[in-house]
Amino acid sequence: GAALSVRNLVKQYANADRRVLDDVSFDVPKGRVLVVVGPSGSGKSTLLRTIAGLEPIQGGQIALNGTVIETGKPGSEKAGRSARSSELRTHIGMVFQSYDLFPNKTVLGNIMMAPLLVQKRDKAEVEREALELLGKVGLADRKDAWPHELSGGQRQRIAICRALILHPEVLLFDEITAALDPEMVREVLDVVIGLARSGQTMVIVTHEMRFARAIADEIILLEDGHIVEHSTDPERFFIE
Ligand code: ADP
Ligand code: ADP
Repeated sequence: GAALSVRNLVKQYANADRRVLDDVSFDVPKGRVLVVVGPSGSGKSTLLRTIAGLEPIQGGQIALNGTVIETGKPGSEKAGRSARSSELRTHIGMVFQSYDLFPNKTVLGNIMMAPLLVQKRDKAEVEREALELLGKVGLADRKDAWPHELSGGQRQRIAICRALILHPEVLLFDEITAALDPEMVREVLDVVIGLARSGQTMVIVTHEMRFARAIADEIILLEDGHIVEHSTDPERFFIE
């Protein structure tokens, strides 16, 4: 079955006269990677934000493992975030273009914050897992560093750890290498490729086409808020 199911999603921003996403539908099977490509302004970022529950939707449904977590409400444009509970929010993780680490917390503090506050997990257990994740992304020796002491690539890898420690069913990546210097892109993409191999379900927006081709199980092409192509054969998608 699908880990993530998006059905007839409609998104319109307040004071806008047109829909940013119109009748968007797709499934992401458990353990698979969906890459979303499309021109700037086509709605890729908005799509991820609605799935993450950062934006209310005006039509359609979003379901996680068969359970509807979001239903569109016409006229909800002005609502802040969606009505999703904070517990449900932890099931979908998101990493953004600009690593939004808390500047006044260490690396470990950043990673441990949400599991302690939102999930009320045991501190010793959370710390153990945080250290394990840091090891996996090659940053075990940076656990006590402050965000300003890290490179952009290191900060993005910390942002990925911060999402992973919540054990999300689905992980969303929005252009996570777009703000990085070229020499740091590789270290971040390698972490994402490792996640794909480990069976993490993901939806990835990226302009790195070689990376997209390497990691995608399926590809969606968005144009002007519509899916104009949905390919289950990425090799063919990129050749055409
Ligand atoms: P992409 O990620 O593909 O570049 P976006 O989802 O960022 O596209 O934007 C899609 C459209 O929605 C654009 O026309 C953009 O200007 C508009 N848009 C994005 N965010 C907002 C917002 N907060 N309020 C109003 N319009 C927005
Ligand atoms: P190749 O697959 O041509 O041997 P590499 O060995 O250079 O490519 O990289 C391994 C994988 O990592 C590639 O499939 C590529 O998609 C991805 N990758 C790493 N860094 C980048 C980058 N800067 N841009 C695009 N893709 C990258």
